[in-house]
Amino acid sequence: MSNLPKNVRDETKCLHSGYDRKNGDPGVMPIVQSTTYVFDTTERVAELFDMPTSHMYSRFSNPTVEVVEKKIADLEGGAAAMCTSSGQAASLFAILNLCKSGDSFVSTSTIYGGTLNLFAVSLKRLGIECIFVDAEADEETIQKAFRENTKAVFGETLANPALTVLDLEKFARIAHENGVPLIIDNTFATPILCKPITYGADIVVHSTTKYMDGHALQVGGVIVDSGRFDWTNGKFPEFTEPDNSYHGVVYTEEFGPLAYIAKARMQLMRDFGAYPAAHSAFLLNIGLETLPIRMERYCQNGLTVARYFRDSDRFRAVRYAGLEDDPYHERAKKYLPGGACGVVSVIIEGGREAALAFMNGLQLASKEVHVADIRTCVLHPASATHRQLTDEQLVAAGVDPGLIRFSVGLENVDDILADIEQSLARMEQNL
Ligand SMILES: *Cc1c(COP(=O)(O)O)cnc(C)c1O
Repeated sequence: MSNLPKNVRDETKCLHSGYDRKNGDPGVMPIVQSTTYVFDTTERVAELFDMPTSHMYSRFSNPTVEVVEKKIADLEGGAAAMCTSSGQAASLFAILNLCKSGDSFVSTSTIYGGTLNLFAVSLKRLGIECIFVDAEADEETIQKAFRENTKAVFGETLANPALTVLDLEKFARIAHENGVPLIIDNTFATPILCKPITYGADIVVHSTTKYMDGHALQVGGVIVDSGRFDWTNGKFPEFTEPDNSYHGVVYTEEFGPLAYIAKARMQLMRDFGAYPAAHSAFLLNIGLETLPIRMERYCQNGLTVARYFRDSDRFRAVRYAGLEDDPYHERAKKYLPGGACGVVSVIIEGGREAALAFMNGLQLASKEVHVADIRTCVLHPASATHRQLTDEQLVAAGVDPGLIRFSVGLENVDDILADIEQSLARMEQNL
């Protein structure tokens, strides 16, 4: 709404930001399901090839997707955003917008497995090197990872699946001392639990597939730019020198604080085309509308289930940053004051066999390759995402054979606990 006051809170932004309704417009953002946009004259079309001042082709922009982009940018406190067809595409483009063959970037090693493979294997094939660092190492040690060709730093607010909480301010400081931006994957926290830009992050990426979509309907991603990084510091000539593929546009001059997203859209999205369909954005928007109230309940249910695991002698260890005795609790109090999401990781007594028996006995919780689903779901990393490793290698990688990733959903929490109890009771009978 054009008359939306500037200082409204997240709940209000989730319902109103991005969609500028005028007299007689549909109350709900419509799905503009069209690949094309028409113009009065050929001269106008030609102008767009110099400077895309309106939508021209849905490979890189669309009115429905634009509403969602504006809403997410607003929620993160950013200047602009660009949606992508998956979270993987968001991470890929966030890096490719800064690094070319021969460049490097620094990433913490506690990141999502798909991102790890993208960085360590696929980007390496393109000649871009990712230097992994231990997120808990001291600043001096992390500084050693930087080279002349280092162009970015990457980390996850609340890591999937490790559930560690990143010291955002430390990483922002290290990145900025080296003249490069900090990119944060904020998927598990969502902007409701943490806004990384307020702690110094420059770029934020999401897999919107998870809590943002919230209903397990549509895979998607987004890149948000804070608009605050100084691309004219000498390390980013592609931002400050004419782009011959766009009639000599100089992104920092033409777009100012919107330079990063403008370049990502005009170079990467135009050429690689991983843009979501209007209908996908429409579905994502439905999820976003209720994100704040859903996150609150995920955090409540997550904490209740984590406490149950902690207090039960059938489980050996539980990781959940919302628990008072979790090693990341102090940091979570600072960066995630509203809660630690719904994902809990727990190690059952009895190793792999017990984990599989417990999971198979669950009736409510789905066995699926997803996380942050609206429905409670479980995954056994040792036999799924980390399947290729032996038990010894699993322990070395920090994945106990008895580890279960328990993604607490929005069912009544007593029903979730009852499901856990009936599965444990069934295991007892089978002993
Ligand atoms: C799932 C996930 C991704 C990848 O997103 P997709 O939408 O599955 O491509 C990236 N980062 C994190 C933290 C994730 O959980």
